[in-house]
Amino acid sequence: MPRYSYVNGRYVPHAGAAVHIEDRGFQFADGVYEVISFVNGHFADEAGHLDRLERSLHEMRIAQPMPRKALQLVLRAFIRRNRLKNAYVYIQVTRGAAPRDFRFPAGDVRPTLVITHLLRARFDLEARKKLLGKAVTVPDIRWKRRDIKTTGLTAQVLAKQEAVERGAYEAWMVDDKGFVTEGSSTNAWIVDKKGMLVTRPTDHHDILKGVTRNAIQALCKKEGVKLVERAFTPAEAYKAKEAFITAAGTLVMPIVEIDGHKIGDGRLGTLTEKILDLYFAYASDKKRRQERWTPK
Ligand code: PLP
Repeated sequence: MPRYSYVNGRYVPHAGAAVHIEDRGFQFADGVYEVISFVNGHFADEAGHLDRLERSLHEMRIAQPMPRKALQLVLRAFIRRNRLKNAYVYIQVTRGAAPRDFRFPAGDVRPTLVITHLLRARFDLEARKKLLGKAVTVPDIRWKRRDIKTTGLTAQVLAKQEAVERGAYEAWMVDDKGFVTEGSSTNAWIVDKKGMLVTRPTDHHDILKGVTRNAIQALCKKEGVKLVERAFTPAEAYKAKEAFITAAGTLVMPIVEIDGHKIGDGRLGTLTEKILDLYFAYASDKKRRQERWTPK
């Protein structure tokens, strides 16, 4: 029997069902989902799942792809089309496909709605009574492995969007203890009151070990620029002489205001400029690039 998936208003053969590679679900995990069991011809807990779907969408500020009534009709048509009696039905909604940018897409980008099902659904009461499970305990690392450059960027998308809406370029994220971790897509640096360059250490999985950050550390060492790795609070950052962010795309960008506090004199600082100069020269050094990329 042919198997269909529902993709943005169309029932398509499952084998060829696809969303765009710039779908934000793929790029940023910028989406939500629900699984509803279809047990012996009935959706189990349908209202509970649709309530949670709507709540998740609301919390993520993703538009409802369609009103609940319409979605319920689609779910039933999906069941009929696939001639299902028992199924695990997956509803996946993302913020849609748009050119890659952490910020929410501008303009009229429609959420992506995908409905699909697994083939192996069986709901046999007697068989269920024989299913005996084991469990192991593991540390709950959700949101705590910032050292891995995963595409699970939901938190960063929300942070970046908040920055934009508060008139800023970047959001500096603050941990449970009140210390800045890093920017939503950049590493964070300050020049403290004593003129010392400061950035957070990369141990404890607290931040992403930025490649740009590493290179700047090496350049600082070579050029005799003193640097200390320690955590700092937003309050300290407000009073910093200079602040900047680093990343592959951003290179070195001065931050001249944080939460409305002017940093230094609100202009490109001396040390930031020096580091930008050093990094720019390093990044555009043809000789070094060739060294690195010559195939062995
Ligand atoms: N921190 C986070 C959370 C990032 O997403 C990025 C880059 O995307 C960085 C830091 C900077 O890393 P890199 O210098 O390797 O681009």
